[in-house]
Amino acid sequence: MRKKNKKYPMTSAQRSKKWRLDNPQKYEEKKEYNKNRHRELKVRVLTYYGNGKMACVKCDFEDIRALSLDHIDRDVGVRFKGRTTQLYKYLEVNNYPKGYQTLCMNCQFIKRDEDYECFTYYERHKRRAQDSLVEALS
Ligand SMILES: [Zn+2]
Repeated sequence: MRKKNKKYPMTSAQRSKKWRLDNPQKYEEKKEYNKNRHRELKVRVLTYYGNGKMACVKCDFEDIRALSLDHIDRDVGVRFKGRTTQLYKYLEVNNYPKGYQTLCMNCQFIKRDEDYECFTYYERHKRRAQDSLVEALS
């Protein structure tokens, strides 16, 4: 069992839970504030990678809820597992490096299918080689 610490009797998770229950109003405000900050960051990043317009670069779809950032070449560029805010922040801080584009989820899935992105790196290269062989023969 965890030894009791006299100075900090609660863990930080317990402290934040207590604060959350003691200040429901403030908690909601904070949640709203963070949501807005994330949305503003997303708008800035997606607008930059949508060539100055917050829309899909392939089909001009504009609903932010279905827009996402695409790694143009899947095997290049940084990734943050499950944390899009981290990626957006990274891109903004690093002055928008090349290699990304704004895509809607439709175009994202179509691209995934066409580029064999659902395969592993080696499977993908094998598939590409096979397909170009088939094309060359036909
Ligand atoms: Zn699209």
